[in-house]
Amino acid sequence: MRAVYLDNNATTRVAPEVVAAMLPCLTEDFGNPSSVHDFGATSRLALKEARERVRALLGAAFREEILFTSGGTEADNTAILGALEATDERNEIVVSAVEHPAVLALCSHLERTRHVKVHRIPVDALGGLDRARYRAALSRRVALASIMWANNETGVVFPVEELAEEAKAVGALFHTDAVQAVGRLPIALRGTAIDMLSLSAHKLHGPKGVGALYVRRGAPFRSLMLGGNQERGRRGGTENTPGIVGLGKAAEMATSRLRGDAARMRALRDRLEASLLGQIQGSFVLGDVERRLPNTSAIVCEGAEADAIVLLLNRVGVAASSGAACSAGSPAPSHVVRAMSVLAAVAAGATRFSLSRDNDDDDIDRVIETLPLIVERLRARSHAPETAVASRSAEPAYA
Ligand SMILES: *Cc1c(COP(=O)(O)O)cnc(C)c1O
Repeated sequence: MRAVYLDNNATTRVAPEVVAAMLPCLTEDFGNPSSVHDFGATSRLALKEARERVRALLGAAFREEILFTSGGTEADNTAILGALEATDERNEIVVSAVEHPAVLALCSHLERTRHVKVHRIPVDALGGLDRARYRAALSRRVALASIMWANNETGVVFPVEELAEEAKAVGALFHTDAVQAVGRLPIALRGTAIDMLSLSAHKLHGPKGVGALYVRRGAPFRSLMLGGNQERGRRGGTENTPGIVGLGKAAEMATSRLRGDAARMRALRDRLEASLLGQIQGSFVLGDVERRLPNTSAIVCEGAEADAIVLLLNRVGVAASSGAACSAGSPAPSHVVRAMSVLAAVAAGATRFSLSRDNDDDDIDRVIETLPLIVERLRARSHAPETAVASRSAEPAYA
C-alpha cells in the first residue's frame, strides 16, 4: 500500500531537482565562500545565485535584503531579538495569540527575563485577528509587531500588508513569519511596509536546517550570531552552502510553479472537504474558509478526537496531523485551537490535512474512503461505557 503524505505543513519532501542541485556542493564544489581561491569563488557564486532566487520568490527589491539562516526558528528569533536591540528605548512587542512556538516561546522568555511587555492579540472563532485590539496595542512603546502570514494549523491568512502599515504609523517595525505562506501564496514585498519576513526551506520542498530572513534595506538590524563577517557581517558562521543552494533551487521552482500548484492543491483540498463534510455528520472546517492557504484543511469531527483519528489514519497509510500537542499521553488541544474558542474543536481537536504539489486524486480518495469509517468507529467506542476509559489511554487502545 502506497503511503499517502498529507502533512506538508510539518515538512515537505525534498524535490529531486533540489537534491540534484545540492549534490555538487557536497562533492567537488566544497569551497568556503570566504576563500580567495577558485574553490571559494565557485561557492560565492552559488550563494549569489541562491540569494537572487529567494529575492525573486519574495518580490523583494534587493538581493542583499536576503539573509540566510538555519531555518524558520532562527529567522524568527533574529527578527525579534534584533528589533528589540535596535530600538532599545522601546520595550513592547505585539504578536498574535496563534503564532508558531518559534515566536511565542521567545516572547514568554523575554517577558520573564527582560521584562519586555508582550501584547498577545486574540483571534475570533474563524481564526481572524482582532483588528481593534491590534490597533489598541500599537504605540510609540512598541519595538516590533510580529504577525504570521498564514497559520500552520488552520491555514488562515492574516492581512499582513495592512497590519504592517498600521505598525509603521507608530514607528514600530513589522515582522511576519511567512514560513507557511512562501511558495503557496504570491508574495511581493517591494512597496509594502513589511520590514522583515521569515521563511524555511523544508516547508517548500527544500532541505531542513536552512531558511532566510528578509530584512528591508535601511531597517534597523542587530545580529543574533556573532562571529565572522559572513552575510555582510549580519550572521557569523560559515555558510551552509549545500542547504542554501537547495533553498535557492526550491525557491526557483516555487516561483515558476506557484500558480499552477496552488490551483491544483486547492481543487484537491476542496474535493476532500466537500466529500468528508457530506459524509460525516457533525463535521466542519475550522477557520475562515475564504481566507486560507490553498493546501490546508483543519477538520473537526464532533465526538471523535483528532489524536485518535490521526493514529487510525496512520494504520491505513495516511499521514495527517492533529492540531493537538500530546504531552505525557494526555491529548490537549493546541494553543491555536484554544485561541479560537470553538467548543467542539476545543473538545475534539482538529485533524489537519496539508497538501503539496506531490498529492493526487488517489491520495484524496484514500482519505475519503477511510475517514468516515474511522470517525464512526471512534464515536461508537466513546458511547460504549466499557471502552470509554481505555480509549483515553495511549495508542494501543485503538488496536
Ligand atoms: C515550521 C514553522 C516554523 C519553524 O521553521 P523551522 O525551519 O522548522 O525552524 C516557524 N513558523 C511556522 C509558521 C512554521 O510552520
